Amino acid sequence: MTLPSKPPPNSTSAVHTGAPLKRPSHTLSASIAQTATYTFENTADLEQYMRGEDPDPEREEYGRYGNPTVRELEQRVTGLEGAEDGVAFSSGMAAITTAVLSLVKAGEHVVLFNDCYRRTRQLVRVVLSRFGIEHDVVPAGDLVALEAALRPNTRLVLGESPTNPFLYCVDFAKLSAIVKKHGRVRTLVDSTMATPVNCRPLEFGVDLVVHSATKYLSGHNDVLGGVATGAAHLVSLLRDSRGVLGTVLDPHAAFLILRGLKTLGLRVERQNATALAVARALEAHPSVERVYYPLLESHPSHGVARAQMSGGGGVVSFVVKGGRDAASRMVDACTIAKIAPSFGGPESLIEQPAIMSYFELGPEDLERLGISPALVRLAVGVEETDDLMADLLNALRKA
Ligand SMILES: *Cc1c(COP(=O)(O)O)cnc(C)c1O
Repeated sequence: MTLPSKPPPNSTSAVHTGAPLKRPSHTLSASIAQTATYTFENTADLEQYMRGEDPDPEREEYGRYGNPTVRELEQRVTGLEGAEDGVAFSSGMAAITTAVLSLVKAGEHVVLFNDCYRRTRQLVRVVLSRFGIEHDVVPAGDLVALEAALRPNTRLVLGESPTNPFLYCVDFAKLSAIVKKHGRVRTLVDSTMATPVNCRPLEFGVDLVVHSATKYLSGHNDVLGGVATGAAHLVSLLRDSRGVLGTVLDPHAAFLILRGLKTLGLRVERQNATALAVARALEAHPSVERVYYPLLESHPSHGVARAQMSGGGGVVSFVVKGGRDAASRMVDACTIAKIAPSFGGPESLIEQPAIMSYFELGPEDLERLGISPALVRLAVGVEETDDLMADLLNALRKA
């Protein structure tokens, strides 16, 4: 049923991987199985299912445990990541929360890379703490600090690569080697920024990969979703937890994500190219103090990014000269990029983290986190590179 996931995902696998060969009524596209529950022919049929002996391994019992449209999405992403299995969730945070709650318990310890998604940090710092799960935070990608933070009760290393907004990358092969020395520690990587087109962390020994499918996988800024992939026995733990926590994806949303996925290769290729061109232009621009993009030679993660990623992704962060107000003037002067959180869709989006994601922090806290008030995050869409570039350069004149 599943096409080979190697060579690396491209537009062929993004359209075809995991697609069932036969569909009801021979439709080309996935059907939306809009049902909350499933029926059994008779009690013998039910008993056979309950004993795990149903001839159809894909058969479902109830909507919180599974759905054929959602299953098709899970299989597609499984193929793209080169995983054994996958499970979809109602959002990226639903995927991360369900995964983390499946993997750790009271008295255990989690190591978290900083510069991770803000709500992931909040999950570990605030929510897990309430349930007696300890944690340490280490600088993004700093494997020396990571190894020093591992304790006998550490069970999970939680990371992201590239991170947001600074796009630090974690060397997955080295991370996996360190973690494997410590026995029962598992690695969970949020690969939302990279997409399976640019990087497949499982190939480097990472245990589980999660995505906010809200971003590049769905790719149209119109649906929320999440997916986790990895070894079948771990995915099965997450699937069981999903049935308890109820973090289940709606079949309509699954259909939209499947539809968006078909153009993942095309979109990410364009976004990689545009973002790299924009990053280089900004780096050479007199009104820009500093640019963060993993494929720029000036980025601290440049070597790691070159070695394990085939593209730098669609997000570029930069500091505008002249401080917070100058950056705001630049952001306001953009006509193509809209002011909004999120990234990964066809529309370019721009934001000033000091005013959006980090609004509640005062100047000292911002400084401690290394967030300049003049930092701008641009997430490029699929517009023409030249149009976007001209618009940005024009906006910089207003800074
Ligand atoms: C957006 C995002 C999330 C959260 O995903 P939702 O779908 O909004 O719940 C998690 N991690 C990263 C890196 C993200 O960008």
